[in-house]
Amino acid sequence: MANVDKFDVIVAGSGMSGALAASIIAKNGLSVALLDRNKPEEVGKKTNWGWVCGDAVAKSHLDFIKKHVNGIDFDYPELDKKVDGVYAISPDMKSKFMFEGEGYVLNRPIFEKKLLDRAIKNGAHHMMEFEVEGPIIENNFVVGIYGKDKSSSHREIRAKIVIDALGIATTIRRKLPDNNFVDRHIHIDDIESTGRYIYSFEPVKDDDMFYDPNNALIHLNQELAPGGYGWVFPKNGNKINVGLGVQKRSLDIRNQKLNKKDTLHTLMDAYVKWNPVIKNPVLDNQFNNGKGYWSVAVRRQMESLVFNGYMGAGDSMAMPNPISAGGIGPALVAGILSGENAVNAISKNDVSINGLWDYNLAFNDVYGKKTAGLEVFRVYLQSLNNEVINYGMKNFFSGKEAEQLSYGQIPELSLASKFKMALKGAANINAFSDLIYVVKKMKTLNGIYNDYPKTPDTFDHWKETVIKEVEEAKHRFQPNPV
Ligand SMILES: Cc1cc2nc3c(=O)[nH]c(=O)nc-3n(C[C@H](O)[C@H](O)[C@H](O)COP(=O)(O)OP(=O)(O)OC[C@H]3O[C@@H](n4cnc5c(N)ncnc54)[C@H](O)[C@@H]3O)c2cc1C
Repeated sequence: MANVDKFDVIVAGSGMSGALAASIIAKNGLSVALLDRNKPEEVGKKTNWGWVCGDAVAKSHLDFIKKHVNGIDFDYPELDKKVDGVYAISPDMKSKFMFEGEGYVLNRPIFEKKLLDRAIKNGAHHMMEFEVEGPIIENNFVVGIYGKDKSSSHREIRAKIVIDALGIATTIRRKLPDNNFVDRHIHIDDIESTGRYIYSFEPVKDDDMFYDPNNALIHLNQELAPGGYGWVFPKNGNKINVGLGVQKRSLDIRNQKLNKKDTLHTLMDAYVKWNPVIKNPVLDNQFNNGKGYWSVAVRRQMESLVFNGYMGAGDSMAMPNPISAGGIGPALVAGILSGENAVNAISKNDVSINGLWDYNLAFNDVYGKKTAGLEVFRVYLQSLNNEVINYGMKNFFSGKEAEQLSYGQIPELSLASKFKMALKGAANINAFSDLIYVVKKMKTLNGIYNDYPKTPDTFDHWKETVIKEVEEAKHRFQPNPV
């Protein structure tokens, strides 16, 4: 016979989003179970490979937490290294745009432990070494979860609301009843396969296009990282977080065209070798976290983040930024907003889709409304080869416009359009007119998301409109890495 427990809220997954959701709920006096498969000292570890991540987060997102979570603050060692900005660099290494402003590279295991400690201090009931296997569904409501506890015994835990913070491989969202609110599947073209190393090394020369102790660097290069990018993020001391993400379809096309058999692993090693500043890197295996592989979704977040009795936050809802794959910020924001809205829904005694809808509105307002536009920009970028990216980064944008884009704002292309008449080469002229199309599409999508349905009644029609717009762009832009 299964053990059954009951709480107001279950938060499944104690990563970035889950620990914050539980903190907020517990602080408001509700009973909350925070479940994670890891031991407390390894909380937030995504897989056996560790806390696989580039660990870069904008300062503004940490400020958001400080504003919403009582008395929390961050410092060294969880903020391992301050960076002035994130720069995107063109394949020919000639153009460099600031992509995001001030931020930090985290010491992830320490940061996650701090969030867990705060949740426990606020009164969350943490159940570690608990494997969540799926949702309990009754009358089309999520009413709990089932799984295996520390001693491998089958357990059922029930609650008024389940918050799914299990990350991209979530066993809850994927087992929801068939419904039009929360998609159960993510298309493989919308996933980046990623991997990263943490190395200590002696820089053998100064070249801030390859390693910059004060800035995070992103290398766009369709041959080195087809359909994605490589990154070199500085850590404290002579250490770096270096990694690479690829889209599988782009990698296959690139391999076929170049008659190569590269995999994510061979590309990662080739990327490290390609970097002239990094010589003789030594794996930094603190917390057994030196090397790992995992996936990131780079589509817009799920159109609805709620179902009856169910809310999702972070990677379980495909929240990372579609261009940068930055998912820490939205996970932190969603953790807080899901917690706040779960408390409100329970106080109103309505945990149906209707009662939870305000969370959709809140997340859309703070972060979500820009992501569909960014997804369209992502598919556009994946359709350009190195030559066109080089040309485009030199001629299409001013630095300011590129930065606007990274924040999800729509560049007016006022400056760039001046160059239009001077553009050279059919591929470049096509890429520029495609860019005009993309910017227009981003504006349309921003408009649609500004009109996010105030209640679930008009959601179906709204979602159809979003899908139509995004699919039209996906049809137009096919991956074309080389
Ligand atoms: C290689 C790589 C590089 C990245 N670089 C960056 C970056 O530099 N900046 C950035 O902002 N974002 C980056 N991201 C994305 C970022 O890591 C994620 O968006 C972020 O971790 C999401 O947090 P989360 O809380 O939603 O999920 P997760 O961090 O995935 O946490 C989920 C938690 O749930 C637990 N869990 C999962 N399944 C179960 C289960 N069945 N039962 C019990 N527990 C379970 C996990 O063990 C984990 O503790 C990167 C991702 C990858 C893979």
